[in-house]
Amino acid sequence: MSAKIISGKEIAAQIREELKEEVKRLKSDHGVTPGLVTILVGEDPASISYVTAKQKTAHDLGFHSIQDNQPEDISEDDLLALIDKYNNDDSIHGILVQLPLPKHIDDSKVLEAIDPDKDVDGFHPVNVGRMVIGERCFLPCTPHGILEMLIRSGVETSGAEVVVVGRSNIVGKPIANLMIQKRDGGNATVTVCHTRTKDMAFHTKRADILIVAAGRPKVVTADMVKDGVVVIDVGVNRIGKTPEGKAILCGDVDFDAIKEKASAITPVPGGVGPMTITMLMKNTVQAAKQFAGLV
Ligand code: NAP
Repeated sequence: MSAKIISGKEIAAQIREELKEEVKRLKSDHGVTPGLVTILVGEDPASISYVTAKQKTAHDLGFHSIQDNQPEDISEDDLLALIDKYNNDDSIHGILVQLPLPKHIDDSKVLEAIDPDKDVDGFHPVNVGRMVIGERCFLPCTPHGILEMLIRSGVETSGAEVVVVGRSNIVGKPIANLMIQKRDGGNATVTVCHTRTKDMAFHTKRADILIVAAGRPKVVTADMVKDGVVVIDVGVNRIGKTPEGKAILCGDVDFDAIKEKASAITPVPGGVGPMTITMLMKNTVQAAKQFAGLV
């Protein structure tokens, strides 16, 4: 059996078309243009490429978008003042600070300075708390993207055994939490593995749906999964460069071997990655609608 490939690229393109239409309607019917600012501190090449992709997507969707570049040595106070400026700017509905920040700046302090109603990354403790108790909030973009992929691919999560590998605040913990919620894409029985898990294969072999976010190339191999499993591979590992200097990427699972056992699997690249940026856009549209009192 060769698995169905769940193309995040295609699902993301579909959602972007829906968002484009929604943005047109918001402008024509309500005079509202979603506004997104992405703040980049320093010149880390990976961060530059992520921020550029976010800005390009925002622009393509018809957002009012601002790319705010700040020097590596900006003080924490100045960065907090900048966030305060955007918190009070009515043309901006979403504020994204690209992580990681330089060592002299406290990430938590910065993320907590963002108005929770503009926290389109869904990292503010207020939004995290609302997510945990199942209230309306901005869901963190990568887990939100995973949910959408599962729902739109027709994967049944209700009653499924879900195993998550990884317990980070941006992927593992929130996706585990979302999948136990009483909602579409939830109602699963969830196990979370990490580096202290004694026998990871014991758990992964039981999974109907396996979500891997470890940041380790091929940490899950074919002998660790059962036939028919649905695999969501979140990992993005740079394992070399092409002769042209382009990064060669691979996920956290042994894609070639596992696709022969799985019923469905996401590729890397072209899986979770495009969904993450798209969910940032969806959250920004939601923020604009909330600001305008339309939801
Ligand atoms: P992270 O903060 O480094 O967390 C990795 C987690 O995996 C940790 O909880 C760690 O356990 C666990 N882990 C690592 N090695 C393991 C192993 N051998 N066995 C079991 N558990 C293991 O990473 P992250 O931010 O969640 O990101 C994970 C991966 O997803 C990275 O490759 C990242 O680039 C990628 N990612 C992709 C997207 C996207 O949009 N495509 C978005 C976010 C992240 P401990 O807690 O015990 O250390």
